Amino acid sequence: MGFTGQCRCGQVQLQLQIESAPLYACHCLNCQRWSGSAFALHMLCPAQAIEISGSTLAYTHTTEGHTSTQYACGTCFTRLFNETDAAPGMRVLRAGVLHGADRLAPLAHIWVKRKQPWISLPEGVAQWPESPTPEDFAVAISEGRLQV
Ligand SMILES: [Zn+2]
Ligand SMILES: [Zn+2]
Repeated sequence: MGFTGQCRCGQVQLQLQIESAPLYACHCLNCQRWSGSAFALHMLCPAQAIEISGSTLAYTHTTEGHTSTQYACGTCFTRLFNETDAAPGMRVLRAGVLHGADRLAPLAHIWVKRKQPWISLPEGVAQWPESPTPEDFAVAISEGRLQV
């Protein structure tokens, strides 16, 4: 069991050796710009759980003291995941690249003060106006880890 996924053109294939992982939506302006959409769907995975085949491009940047490297398909530029020194040993997967992503629902919404007004969040789902503290976030995601 686990997840598989791919970029838009199929040059990059992903395999996740993982049974469950926390999924959350980020409504921040950077995620809106970077996704070209209303929010980004992020899945927090142990780095070694993601196997990749195909060639990727990397883009490293530093924002507010944290350095992050974004990985994309080298052919079609689909964003795949990033690594950040804010979460060592983890990769944050762009969950829309997964097969069956329609089965996944976010456990939490962050940066909802930037949320587009036409989006209604389900009641009872954790949400924060900006980024939660790592402690608050850990509590929220431990209450409902995704099973596949
Ligand atoms: Zn591609
Ligand atoms: Zn964001």
